[in-house]
Amino acid sequence: MGSESYYDVLGVPRNATETDIKKAYRNLAKKYHPDVCKEAGAEEKFKSINEAYSVLSDDGKRHQYDQLGHDNFTNASKGSYGGPGGGGYTADFSGFGDIFDSFFGGGGGGGRRSGPRQGDDLLMRIQITLEDAVFGAQKEIEVMHTEQCPECDGTGSSTKKTTTCPKCGGTGQIKQVRNSIFGQMVTAAPCPNCGGRGKIPESACKKCNGTGRTKVKRKVTVHVPPGIESGMRLRMEGYGEAGDYGAPNGDLYIEVRVASNAKFDREDDDLVTQYEITPAQAALGCEVEIETLDKKKVSLKIPSGIAYGTRLRIPGEGVRRRGNFGNLLVRIVIATPKKLSSAERELYEQLLAAEGNAPKERPAKEEREEKKEKSSSESETPKDEKKKKRGFFK
Ligand SMILES: [Zn+2]
Ligand SMILES: [Zn+2]
Repeated sequence: MGSESYYDVLGVPRNATETDIKKAYRNLAKKYHPDVCKEAGAEEKFKSINEAYSVLSDDGKRHQYDQLGHDNFTNASKGSYGGPGGGGYTADFSGFGDIFDSFFGGGGGGGRRSGPRQGDDLLMRIQITLEDAVFGAQKEIEVMHTEQCPECDGTGSSTKKTTTCPKCGGTGQIKQVRNSIFGQMVTAAPCPNCGGRGKIPESACKKCNGTGRTKVKRKVTVHVPPGIESGMRLRMEGYGEAGDYGAPNGDLYIEVRVASNAKFDREDDDLVTQYEITPAQAALGCEVEIETLDKKKVSLKIPSGIAYGTRLRIPGEGVRRRGNFGNLLVRIVIATPKKLSSAERELYEQLLAAEGNAPKERPAKEEREEKKEKSSSESETPKDEKKKKRGFFK
């Protein structure tokens, strides 16, 4: 359904309480119920009311909805997948730190417990263009991961039954006592007989050799939300490695790297591009056409007397994120002509005289002037600094 916000659908303000939302939903649902309302489009309306309520009535979903904005949220939740098990999709903007924690040691990766273990998380990296990052995109990727063996339903046993591991008595751990120069050390290691599960298949499944898992390659469609930045990770819940029988799958994390663009740089939600004008245009002012990232032509007025390097703002042509529109910043570069026609040369000489600077001796044939070098070296420095600041992967 269009881009009407869920709040508008229910006719409540953004800060509505749970009770307000419930009340509004009840009234509308009663009014538009297909059995009652014979108005055209009532069924559609009824569906969107339910959709809005299912999100706004759930604290977690509502929070994410507020964070991402309507379009990103609705696109993101439509993650599709060609395999069993479904699984939701959430855009994870929580930043690097805490996600790394869950990969290396912290949280899930910590102590091995007995009993069914959750599947491991997977990490994949994809590279996208700046256009994809700004406008959002759908990317199809291939993921190699394990799934529950279909033959034994993931039990690892051809009878689909398991028995308690005799070696560890079902704890999944083996304690070892070692004598060392520091005294006795007790270590707990996962039981090699059952792999730490505490259970073994009654009769090993031939297809998966009793592991309960098979490796498969799947195509996964990733919805890249608009406004994503390099280093952000998208989380696709349940698309990681298969868990033990009875335990959930791990998640698939997709780390996005945005390739640099020849014409546009990104600064937060603004895009920056460069435009060259002549000294005459700079002195007198002019109107020029600027091409936006999505290849639209936008006219831009350049005021007379503009200074080299001035950034002019075209609102709304930057990154669109969470309902906010960034700017397109056009950095104006004044390019000194490298070649002059004789008419131009004459005018420049008149100009020089008018400025009170006596014309130099007329160079006989050479049409080149030497002064351009200074300005071009100047123009590079600030841009490089910017790049350093944003470089996430270095
Ligand atoms: Zn065991
Ligand atoms: Zn099997």
